[in-house]
Amino acid sequence: MNIQDTNKRIRLIMHLRNKGITDTRVLSAMETVARDAYVPPAVLDQAWDDIALPIGRGQTISQPFVVAIMTQALQISDRDKVLEVGTGCGYQCAVLSKLCRRVYTVERHKPLLVEAEKRLEAQRLRNVTAMAGDGMKGWPSQAPFDKIIVTAAARDRPPAALLDQLKDGGLMVIPVAVDGAQILRLYKKESGEAYSVKDLMPVRFVPLLPDIAKEEEQG
Ligand code: SAH
Repeated sequence: MNIQDTNKRIRLIMHLRNKGITDTRVLSAMETVARDAYVPPAVLDQAWDDIALPIGRGQTISQPFVVAIMTQALQISDRDKVLEVGTGCGYQCAVLSKLCRRVYTVERHKPLLVEAEKRLEAQRLRNVTAMAGDGMKGWPSQAPFDKIIVTAAARDRPPAALLDQLKDGGLMVIPVAVDGAQILRLYKKESGEAYSVKDLMPVRFVPLLPDIAKEEEQG
């Protein structure tokens, strides 16, 4: 890693602290994960800026601040089994993998998943299991999960399967589109069918779509 790269990393972490990210485990995970290894060459010079970037197929790598807020909200421990819906380029997954026991990540665009798996492998993140599929159905054979993170916006409410696959006491963070706006929500499964919900902040995510994507599909 060269000096310039180190400076960019430090600048991003200080920026996240200034914006209110206080969890030191999250900050150090984000300092460790090389965001530049997850973005396409065309936008490499912006890899350490606090902005979302295009990753192909009409999808985006999330803004670092939003990654930090979502990860911090989940209060991840090193014993947690985490489900991520929407692997995209694999960046959020990499941050999670530094903090928890195992990440199960699902992506509906097979080509994106293949690329993400290569990156995660190249970064030697071995506690990640990835699958191409419809994450709205969760990952029944691995459920229940301590934590669930959805990185695409659900319409009106979270998919029922995801709430079902959360452990009692478990947390899920998910953007939800209501009345044309998106809000980031934190769900806590109190027990059985009982949930509490907290609104975190307004966000802009690509939509959560059903089924595996067709070859010709872009968005
Ligand atoms: N977590 C990513 C952000 C990816 S953008 C990152 O760190 O950069 C959201 C992703 O969710 C897209 O790649 C999109 O294809 C995917 N997605 C949307 N609906 C999905 C679904 N039902 N199942 C799995 N992935 C889905």
